[in-house]
Amino acid sequence: ESLNNYLDLKGSIRVFCRIRPFNHEQSYSSRTMFTLDESNIFLRVSETKRKQYKFDKVFDPSSTQGDVFSEVEPLIKSAIDGYNVCIFAYGQTGSGKTYTMEGKPTNLGVIPRGIQVLFDRASESNNRFLFTFSMLEIYMGNLRDLLVPGSKTNGFKNVPSLAIKTDPDGGIEIENLVAVTVNNFQEVKRLYGVGTRLRSTASTMANSTSSRSHCLIRISMTSFDAPERKKARNKLWMIDLGGSERLVKTKATGKRLKEGKAINLSLSALGDVIDALQTKKTHVPYRNSKLTQVLRDSLGCESKTLMLVHIRPNENDLCETVCTLGFATRVR
Ligand code: ADP
Ligand code: MG
Repeated sequence: ESLNNYLDLKGSIRVFCRIRPFNHEQSYSSRTMFTLDESNIFLRVSETKRKQYKFDKVFDPSSTQGDVFSEVEPLIKSAIDGYNVCIFAYGQTGSGKTYTMEGKPTNLGVIPRGIQVLFDRASESNNRFLFTFSMLEIYMGNLRDLLVPGSKTNGFKNVPSLAIKTDPDGGIEIENLVAVTVNNFQEVKRLYGVGTRLRSTASTMANSTSSRSHCLIRISMTSFDAPERKKARNKLWMIDLGGSERLVKTKATGKRLKEGKAINLSLSALGDVIDALQTKKTHVPYRNSKLTQVLRDSLGCESKTLMLVHIRPNENDLCETVCTLGFATRVR
């Protein structure tokens, strides 16, 4: 069993790619520029050239939320087994990150399905579990609690960024982050709604867009194998990253430009960290962004990571798609 665990740990970073279907307004107005099989994308970068990108799994545009979740579910189970787990959605704005993570009320995504599975597995287990739910965003390098009561309707003006603290044993804590004990799916759903509303109010008030911030859900779990006997503590992170589009195309100025720079910086810092872990570098540059500082104890040797990379199907998004696939190749 320990050998299995070892082999399992070796492949602890997985990269999947999901391709969004055409939206009706664009349907077939442009050609698709790739062919797929279950783990490769062959991108037509010019009339004569194709470039191959390899993944652990590729979801074509007809894939359902259920298809995606069935491949994600083992990670949720690892979290119940005591691993720290990070699930990221990466891609340009409009590529389907939020659709995959949150989904629609009638077509739930990874977050609600994952939470449901957590509670189901916990109830079947011989151990007792205590779950807490937290929700925060990282905007321009600031950590903002999305569950603060009496929500900050001034767009977080004058609200200081939450501080990150490192325990002597290397564990990461976000100071004063609200962590609500949750006992069932409905309680999580309600809190998620609170957080989502605060997030959108804050971005409206500050005249920014939520696509330029990272949204992080954290489930902390403590398991007890006997009353009052703590067995393990670990975290499951589900993260809807800020849009990865580059700044040239958006012709951003002023505030937009700053937002874009902050996002690009933290996404490349995340790429650097995962790349260093994959190639077993001795120095892992966690310190370069708030995102990687927060996730320091949840990314790496004893943890499991899933990067869900999203691309748009349109030919006119080819440049962004090439960048996104480049990032994916780098972290795999
Ligand atoms: P992002 O979060 O990356 O900005 P969204 O998840 O908001 O992108 O997706 C953009 C639009 O495309 C939304 O209207 C969403 O409902 C739709 N969409 C994205 N992915 C899918 C999919 N796999 N199937 C159907 N509609 C999708
Ligand atoms: Mg989104």
